[in-house]
Amino acid sequence: MIEINGNEGEGGGQIVRSSLALAAVTGQPARITNIRGGRKKPGLLRQHLAGLRAIRAVCSGEVEGDRLGSTELTLVPGKLSGGEHHFEVGSAGSAILVAQTILPVLLHADAPSTISIGGGTHAAWAPPFDFFSRCYLPLLAKMNAEVEVDIESHGFYPSGGGRIAMKVQPTTGMEGITLADRVGRLQPKVTALVSKIPELVGQRECDVIARKTGWDKKAFQVVDVQQAGGPGNVVMIELAFDNVCELIIGFGKVGVKAEQVARATLRDARTHLFSEVPVGVYLADQLLLPMGLAAHSGHRSEFRTRPLSLHSRTHIDVLKRFLDVNVQTVSAEDGSVHVTVEGREG
Ligand code: ATP
Repeated sequence: MIEINGNEGEGGGQIVRSSLALAAVTGQPARITNIRGGRKKPGLLRQHLAGLRAIRAVCSGEVEGDRLGSTELTLVPGKLSGGEHHFEVGSAGSAILVAQTILPVLLHADAPSTISIGGGTHAAWAPPFDFFSRCYLPLLAKMNAEVEVDIESHGFYPSGGGRIAMKVQPTTGMEGITLADRVGRLQPKVTALVSKIPELVGQRECDVIARKTGWDKKAFQVVDVQQAGGPGNVVMIELAFDNVCELIIGFGKVGVKAEQVARATLRDARTHLFSEVPVGVYLADQLLLPMGLAAHSGHRSEFRTRPLSLHSRTHIDVLKRFLDVNVQTVSAEDGSVHVTVEGREG
């Protein structure tokens, strides 16, 4: 039984999700204590519980401690099963985080899967759907993971109520990937989504970003979303290169001017752009798990990113508990960090 102290490092939901996924994929029972010990309100929230139940379903696992507020749980994984599954987060909690949690398991199942997940698709503090589909999954595809996703209904922060569909083919083995530099020139794209609020809000966000960047008019679009669980507005700046893509999101809020949302989002986008690294802060922590799985079966990965977040450092510790991998991080003078993930044999 692998013992994980959920209080370590970041001390949040990600240690729980990653430990569950790694336990299931490697077939090792795991016990997690002090769940979300680093948070003001510790224990499993609805969205973590949804992730746990989804994992249990796809790995035929035996679980103890699956209730709201639980600060301890045990997972004894069984057979990894593909097929058709429906999951509900049941709040504005992120459907994408649930998808990301079960994805490694489905990739290692014995049959293809068709998954439907209800919840937030553009939730705060989680990867937005577009980040998942445009940034994360294309890199996974290069690592030999065949996944299709579709958004059936948008679930905006804070009302949620969206739905995504995901199809996963079992992988014949995860490959490594190298993301040392950006390749090609920047292909920016700005999308403002509005649902049940005036399109003009999205237009004002685009106008600010267009004026400040001078990017081609064709790079901008305002989409009035028809299928959504509730009202909402986000503005997304996609920074695509030939080999990697980042997506920076800003959330419209009541009482905050559209121009202010756009300026803050552009500031974040510029911070990433000027850093010149191919992998941003969020993508870094999310790539570590698939890279760890590839390394476990002998395929090395490497990437260059900004200084590692506490999420990433915690993730590295969790990987080492479940997998036979080494993760090396080397900081350069310009502040970038080179991360190598490889099997223990090297
Ligand atoms: P807790 O409630 O304990 O914080 P959680 O499960 O909601 O738990 P975290 O453990 O903080 O959340 O994990 C959030 C995940 O979402 C991380 O992998 C992070 O990279 C990702 N994430 C957060 N914001 C963004 C964003 N704007 N774009 C892409 N990914 C994001």
